[in-house]
Amino acid sequence: MKHRTVWLIGLAALIALGATCTQAQEPVRGIVHVTGDLYRAQDNNHFTAFLVTPEGIILTDPINNDFAEWLRTELDARFGAPVRYVVYSHSDFDHASGGAVFADTAEFVGHENMRDAELNENVHPPTMYYSDRHTIALGGKSVQMIHPGPAHSDNMSIIRFPEENALFVVDIISLKRVPFQALPGYDHEVLMAEMRMVEAMNAGIVIPGHGDIGTTADVRDHRHYLEEMHAAVSEGIAAGRTLAEMQESITMDAYSDWASFDEWRALNIEGMYNYLTSE
Ligand SMILES: [Zn+2]
Repeated sequence: MKHRTVWLIGLAALIALGATCTQAQEPVRGIVHVTGDLYRAQDNNHFTAFLVTPEGIILTDPINNDFAEWLRTELDARFGAPVRYVVYSHSDFDHASGGAVFADTAEFVGHENMRDAELNENVHPPTMYYSDRHTIALGGKSVQMIHPGPAHSDNMSIIRFPEENALFVVDIISLKRVPFQALPGYDHEVLMAEMRMVEAMNAGIVIPGHGDIGTTADVRDHRHYLEEMHAAVSEGIAAGRTLAEMQESITMDAYSDWASFDEWRALNIEGMYNYLTSE
């Protein structure tokens, strides 16, 4: 009897351990209806968007092989429709991988600078390229690809869903969260011009590649954050203050409820400082 109890406790512990391991490895995935025929799908911290039409699906970033396999099964089950187009936001492997899963039915569309980009082996190369703007029409719906210029990478596309009045924008904008760490590759003039371009599209819904869905107002707030930081750090440099002093004094309080604020505010200031002092 005693032995059996010990054995059962051991078994329970093993099951609990197994459950914990499975949980730790299980990716966070899901599909959410956004508006009209537009949906958003999640793979952990990465998001993609897709438009369902009577003639098939237009998918943005396929993200990675495992996720794309999962997504294909979900799309088959929910919509019974093939992916006709994969439209890339840009060539970075953590967004653009996995497209081969859809190669039997899809064309792959990317900005022309993807021709010369070094593509990860998991990125299916575009089968169609565009230079400035491009519209894809399918099943009575349309998707526009707009090249915003050279921020983050030189082959970016903003993806617009005109009938849904929505945008999918990856890595050049974050909504209700501070920009990434020390602003890698920051170029203030270029980025501000791109934000204004995105704002001018006046979309009701903006879907980022990371983080929560927002609106054009959130894009404007993000631009204001960077403009305020740019002004404050410029002023600090002119007044001869050190980076450490500015990291102390430039508190950006108005944005303290944004995601990653506590981790990245000081790093953002460092990035802005490095950008302004290396000009
Ligand atoms: Zn990214």
